[in-house]
Amino acid sequence: MRKVALVFVLAVLAPSLVLAWLAVRSLRDQQFLLERQQSLLYQGVTDSVAKSISDYISEQQREFSSQVDAFTSGKDPRSVASQFDQEIRAKSPLVEVGFCVTLSGNLICPTCPPPFNTPELRAFCLDNSAFLGNHETVQVYWNGNNSTKGAQNFNSFGSLNNSSLSQQKTPTDNQNFDSNAGGGQVQQQQTVANNLQSANNSLWAQQGSNLKMNRAVNPQKNNYKDIAANSAADLQDDNISKISPAEAEFGQLIGNDMDGMLARYLQNKLKLMFWHRQASDPDLVFGAQLNLSRLVGGLSGLVKPDPLLTNEIYVALLDDNAKPVALSCGFQAAWKRPFVATEIGESLPHWEVGAYLVNPDHINQLARTAKLTCGLLIATLVLAIGIGGWLIVADLSRQLALARQKTDFVSNVSHELKTPLTSIRMFSELLADQRVTDPVKQRSYLHIITAEAARLTRLINNVLDFSRMERGEKKYNFHDADLGKIACETAETYRPHLENNGFQMEFVLPPGELPVRADTDAIAQVIVNLLSNAEKYSNGERKISVEARQRDGPLPCAEVRILDRGPGVPHGSEEKIFEKFYRAHDSLSSGIQGSGLGLTLARQIARAHGGDVIYEPRAGGGSCFVLRLPLKMA
Ligand code: ADP
Repeated sequence: MRKVALVFVLAVLAPSLVLAWLAVRSLRDQQFLLERQQSLLYQGVTDSVAKSISDYISEQQREFSSQVDAFTSGKDPRSVASQFDQEIRAKSPLVEVGFCVTLSGNLICPTCPPPFNTPELRAFCLDNSAFLGNHETVQVYWNGNNSTKGAQNFNSFGSLNNSSLSQQKTPTDNQNFDSNAGGGQVQQQQTVANNLQSANNSLWAQQGSNLKMNRAVNPQKNNYKDIAANSAADLQDDNISKISPAEAEFGQLIGNDMDGMLARYLQNKLKLMFWHRQASDPDLVFGAQLNLSRLVGGLSGLVKPDPLLTNEIYVALLDDNAKPVALSCGFQAAWKRPFVATEIGESLPHWEVGAYLVNPDHINQLARTAKLTCGLLIATLVLAIGIGGWLIVADLSRQLALARQKTDFVSNVSHELKTPLTSIRMFSELLADQRVTDPVKQRSYLHIITAEAARLTRLINNVLDFSRMERGEKKYNFHDADLGKIACETAETYRPHLENNGFQMEFVLPPGELPVRADTDAIAQVIVNLLSNAEKYSNGERKISVEARQRDGPLPCAEVRILDRGPGVPHGSEEKIFEKFYRAHDSLSSGIQGSGLGLTLARQIARAHGGDVIYEPRAGGGSCFVLRLPLKMA
């Protein structure tokens, strides 16, 4: 039993409890896992909006290039370069200022210094003439061939520049930046770029690592990072912008590309420029500074979530100060920080697309429901395992007790069979050998043999009846009978045996009949079993009473009460004595033989008649066993 319990604890209970504990632990992370799933989903949305914004700007840049081509078509570019600003502004509402500069830094248009037509021109010249003239290096965000790069292609500064610079050819001898245009201009321009390459590589390699900037937008998804097992380094990496500026002159940036865009911050304001040059005159660079608010106006149509997610998130375009500049339809979020955000890239450096939750409590609610469901499941599972375990252990101990009782039963029955057989054999041998001549003694021996044979028969009948009942094969022959008469006749047949053993027997019978429907033999067997017990368990006063009477009440019944003055049934065993094989007086300790079947049979027979056998302690000491059968109504 102890071994089975140990196996149960080790193989079932302990692993179940460990699993339950792990499940409870994982419940705590439920919200973070949900947030993580949601953030991956929404990140996809912001990524795609950022890409479409980047693609839109590239598209504008290509359009600018074709406008430049159209502007110079059929003309000498140098002769019309000075009117470029006016022309391009008239054609493209996106352009704030158009400019034209040679690779050597000669600004042809707009003409700086004065006369200035507009304040924009004046500011442009002030801000850019030194940079475009290659006289100063500034921090720029640069994408040499933007038309082939989308939002996903944002690399760290180093990798972007290296890929661009790797297109450049082998350096040759030093040549003047301001050399004349002509058939050798492309080669010359390449040479210029090559000469700059080595300088740039070392300059940018030094600066690239130092120019990392914090992101202004701080998405909320970072909240769960620590729990999602991300290291502090990962977390820090996420807060750092993937876009880094390069410190360079205008001529350095152009390299051998034919068009491109660049962005720079001047007094914390973003300035975006397109540039383009033609193969026919690569020394001449046409460019435009864009009007940012008009560009944003064009972008606002792209700032919208996936149609399937419109009920879940709002989308906003955030500038470098994390201020929303374009919002998706119906935007109402009062949240300062977006749930997730994606940087747009070099075309709009440090601008991001952010996704805001329509209902920020939704994730909490989902997490709470998931937690509750999982918690209930775990609790039910643990409870089921506990109850199952308890039932198994209880059943096991019941089976073990039954097995023990059966073993006791076999030894008890063997003993019960052996004792009368020994007496019968001994006395019959004495009589057969005619060693006893005294007729009184002979009669007494014959009585003993008869009594022992009866005891043997009773025992065998009990065992046979019990096995019949267990198999459900016991049959009853019901007929109308008088319970008082059955009790009296049975007790009378038992009386000689009792009196021989020194018992006094008294009868209390009712004046009239006690009509019942009964199998007389079966009821007689019950009464004999009860009388036999009264005899066995009366160790002091040898007096047995048999009372038959009618019991009135809502359900009137006939009763036979068998009373003795023995020690009575020990406390706590009053009901157990009716269980099969149960013995309150152990054969070994009490010396009283028995099989533990007598009362079991008595009760089963009584119940088959619609009645019962019960035990009551007798007033003044002793036992009182009552056989009750329903009265047969007239
Ligand atoms: P057994 O063969 O052991 O007598 P029973 O089923 O007849 O089996 O009785 C079950 C147990 O009930 C007995 O072992 C005994 O402990 C208790 N018992 C039965 N009758 C009496 C009685 N008259 N007085 C005291 N105890 C009794």
